[in-house]
This record gives sequence, C-alpha cells and structure tokens, in this order.
Amino acid sequence: MTATAPPPTRLSAPSPTRLWTPSRVLVTRSAAERPHGQRVLARLEAAGVSDVELLAGDRLPNLRGDGDRAAFMRAKDTLAVVVPPRSKRTLQPIAPSADWRFDLAEGCPAHCQYCYLAGSLSGPPVTRVFADLDEVLGDLDGYVGRGSVTSGTVERGGEGTTFEASCYTDPLAIEHLTGGLAAAVTHFGTHDWPGPVQLRATTKFDDVAGLLDLPHGGRTRLRFSVNAASVARRFEGATSPVAGRVAALAAVAAAGYPVGLTIAPIMPLEGWREEYGDLLDAVAAALPAGADLTVECITHRFTPGSKETLLDWYPRTRLEMDEARRTTKRGKFGSVKHVYPKETMAGLRGWFEAALPERLPQARLLYWT
Ligand code: SF4
Repeated sequence: MTATAPPPTRLSAPSPTRLWTPSRVLVTRSAAERPHGQRVLARLEAAGVSDVELLAGDRLPNLRGDGDRAAFMRAKDTLAVVVPPRSKRTLQPIAPSADWRFDLAEGCPAHCQYCYLAGSLSGPPVTRVFADLDEVLGDLDGYVGRGSVTSGTVERGGEGTTFEASCYTDPLAIEHLTGGLAAAVTHFGTHDWPGPVQLRATTKFDDVAGLLDLPHGGRTRLRFSVNAASVARRFEGATSPVAGRVAALAAVAAAGYPVGLTIAPIMPLEGWREEYGDLLDAVAAALPAGADLTVECITHRFTPGSKETLLDWYPRTRLEMDEARRTTKRGKFGSVKHVYPKETMAGLRGWFEAALPERLPQARLLYWT
C-alpha cells in the first residue's frame, strides 16, 4: 500500500461528546520507566487527573473488592498503566478482521450491556494501558508478509498485512489520556515497512481531533461501530452517541483516512429495517465524496461465559440472551456460542445485502457474521 495524497477538503473536528476521566489511576514501576508510560503520565497531568498512584512495584493492588456492584463500578472507573508479560508480544491472528492483533490496552470504560470483552477478559474490568508500545510497534516488521487471514485472499489481499488494534479495548475511549492510537497511526504512516501494511481500529467514541493531522499515509483504516437507534439507546451506556460517531467518521474520511462501519451487534429489534435504514442514510449524508468505505456486519451472539459475566455486570439488562430463541454453534475445541436462528439470520443478511449497495454504493462489505 502506498502513501496517499492529502485529501482535497477538510472538515473541522467535531467536538467530542464524551471524554472519560478515571477516578483512579495506577502506574506500575516498570510502566513509569517506559517512554510511553511517561507520555501517558504527562497526558494525565495535562488532563487534570489528580488521583495518580505511582506503585513501588509491578503488581496491581487487589481490585476485585468483594466482587459486588460497587467494586465493579470502581474497577470500571480505574485506569492502570502496566507493562504486560513478554508473551503478549507474540501476536495472534484475529479472523475475520485482520492477519494479526496487537493491543494498545485491555478493557474499556464504557458500559455496553452486550460488551464483547465480557467473554474474553477475566478479572476486574479495569482498563489497562500497555506502556511497552514502542517495543510492540518495533516488533511488527517481523509479521509483515506472514499473515493468512486477509493476506493472500482475493477480496482483501490488496490491503497488505493487516493489524487490528481494537480487539480488547476501544482505543478512542482512552486516546485523550494515552495518545497510543496516534502513536500507532504515525508509526504505520511513516515507518519504512518491509511490505504493504494496514492498521485497523474500531470505536464507539468520537474524539478524533488528535488524529486528523497525523501523517497516516492512508495506512490506517478507522472504523466506527454503529447501530440502530434502539440498540444504541438501550444498550450502549457511556459511549458517544451514534450521531457523534458518524460526524467523526466523516471528519477522518475528509482527512484522507480509509474508513469503515462496524455495524455490530446487529439485532432484529422492533422496527429494525427502518432504524438500520436511517443509520445508513445518515452515514451516506455525512460522508465526503470519494471516501474509501468498508462495512463489517456482526450479528449479536453470546456464549455461556459472556452471558454469566454480563448478567453479573448488568443484572437488570433487557438484552435478549435466551438460549431457547437461538441456534447453538460449536467451535473446533468444543466452544459454544448462541446465534440467531437460520431464518432470522437470512432475513437480516438479505436486508443488509440489498440496502448497502442501494444506500452506500461506494461501500465494500468485508464480511457478514
Ligand atoms: S465500547 Fe466496546 S469495548 Fe467498550 S463497553 Fe462497549 S462494547 Fe465493550
């Protein structure tokens, strides 16, 4: 992938609709010694975050508390800056999004009642920012040309080796406090890579001002996770409103970034056709002409583990997680997930496959799942 020319038009950055201020910040000794850890400390100070504890060692204190609701809320409102174990620097493939995944952080301060992290992260839901970012970025050269999820495929081989940075966090939710996404975008845009590459990130936030002027070189695809109005209103607590995400999408597209919609999790709630239609129309109205747009569609699913965790976190949720209304899919190693039945899935898929080319003719659908 070659660097792209600057775009002809620019949109000013929309004002961020939601900026998280953690009530507590913990920084381990090793994290405070790393350059990225120091950059995060400087940003925290500039943001006026006062409760920052510099720990004498590398262990975080017990954040589990009594396992009650108050402990959950305290953990959700805590940011920890840590150096993860060395083993995390060995990257894993992440189908269907990208050849490889690397993590800027783990955890997210928002409160989506279907949160994907519930089934994959264990322990108290603290947001951990990784201070070894410079080392992680420096290691990525070794993965270029070695992927097999998107690399080598007819549909997506042209993207270069793809790296997903938002698998276990929402990078924009914490960007004002960390600058990690901007550092990654700049590295991808300016580094002399051994082959074509693409950085990928997705978000439910809209604070893109710090990204617009970066030398991204067209090598980062920023995707915005969007949904029907009823899904966002009922289930996506403490995120930026969908209208803010759409305005942010338009602003980064106008700044020359390839962009994307992650429509997820798709749910057939009452009036879904109208609501998803309104969503696609809003995106079509906001996007600048010539934007390079992809779409990823992910239907709602849950696992026994994610259901248990989510009901623990959000006991009064109205999110439908009824096994009797779902089809059970079994993975290679005996894992179980509950997805919509075949007819529901076919109805949703048929609608999106017709509506997307009609309302967003320039969009490329990357996958449906
Ligand atoms: S924004 Fe994403 S990571 Fe954060 S709570 Fe919502 S689903 Fe989970």
